[in-house]
Amino acid sequence: MSTNTQTNRVTSSAATVDPHLRRGPRGFPLLPGGYGRSTYYTGAPSPYAVRGQGCRVWDDRGRELIDANNNFTSLIHGNAHPEITEAATKALSSGASWGIPNLYEWELADLLLSRLPDLDQVRFANSGTEAVMSAIRIARGSTGRERVIVTKGGYHGTSEVALAAGGAANTRGVPRGVTDDVTRVPLNDTEFLRQAIESAPDAYAAIILDLLPNRAGLLRISEDFVTTARELATRYGIVLIIDEVISLRLGPHGLSGEYGVSPDLLTTGKTIGGGFAVGAVAGLGELMSEVDPTRPGSLPHGGTFSGNPVSMAAGAAALRIYSESEVKRLNSLGDAARESVQARVADVGWEVRGQGSLLRAVPAGTEKVDAETQHRLWWESYDRGLLGSPANLLSLSTPMDKTVADEIADRLADAVLAVAAGERN
Ligand code: PMP
Repeated sequence: MSTNTQTNRVTSSAATVDPHLRRGPRGFPLLPGGYGRSTYYTGAPSPYAVRGQGCRVWDDRGRELIDANNNFTSLIHGNAHPEITEAATKALSSGASWGIPNLYEWELADLLLSRLPDLDQVRFANSGTEAVMSAIRIARGSTGRERVIVTKGGYHGTSEVALAAGGAANTRGVPRGVTDDVTRVPLNDTEFLRQAIESAPDAYAAIILDLLPNRAGLLRISEDFVTTARELATRYGIVLIIDEVISLRLGPHGLSGEYGVSPDLLTTGKTIGGGFAVGAVAGLGELMSEVDPTRPGSLPHGGTFSGNPVSMAAGAAALRIYSESEVKRLNSLGDAARESVQARVADVGWEVRGQGSLLRAVPAGTEKVDAETQHRLWWESYDRGLLGSPANLLSLSTPMDKTVADEIADRLADAVLAVAAGERN
């Protein structure tokens, strides 16, 4: 059990002037809401990070936290890993980025594609959002069709098509023409998927799936649903895109490798940049040739910082260190952590979901966890020195060992029990 009762919680009381919300010259916080990313939001202004080392992060109050947020799962090797820092620094000292190709792109392409043996080529971008946006355009360009299938609650970044997956709550500001082209299928409703496609088989350009969607409470997509999606895509000439921005870490060949399914395009990001901005679309040569500039009429793809040497060099170091044995070691640490938390929270009506090195505690049976519960669990975890994502998605990193994983499990279970006790009062 965690004995650490120190609390650094910041209240949002109007009487306290919070340094995070420092006012600008016109009386507004310098950043909208005081945040540089809306996805940081945890209900009240959070302390900010000042330093990270290995699997620990320190905040501006001097508080030490176990970093299981890992910048939203991207720091697979934790903070400031020496080999990654060295690779990035070496690249940076030769110039941050250039306007002609660089060899680091080839190196990362080779390392990534060797993990995706069914796919032929890759294009790099600066984020998962960009990768998904490009994959959808490649699918539309190659099929000449427009409609896209997503699963309800899936999250694929903040491009307009991707936002439509989240439903009406996420599509203010997105043109109707965009949302009209997106069909949302309930998670694991194979019959719905089949009917949607068979009612208009020539309309669909792509099916896009995240096999372990965090926004849908980290519920796994069923084998049956994935197999059916693959079969229907093949039969009707639809491009199957598997979004592995988060899940690539879960197997030596990604989570699609664990399912034994071959996508036509695979999008990824996060871990493959070693902590630097990155995204990638990997795919079959025939599809990837859509962005081959040597072909007349190819689709536009650019990005001033796409394939920049620092992200590529850091990413190559990260993939090299993330060996098959490390994938397995982290996954089994995660399995044990889930089991131990589950044993302690089941009685209070909570459960722990996830796979391998990803875990998340949620009220049992829920698909969509309400924001207030998420915020309460985040703060209860934080107060116990455990840093998760605002949705309380926890990810392990390679600097962690069994002692740290046990500590994560203890702190998480304590936090869940505190939230559940609060609910009962
Ligand atoms: N796809 C998935 C499955 C994601 O989880 C995310 C981000 N968490 C994205 C796409 C978007 O990636 P990024 O934040 O790098 O734009």
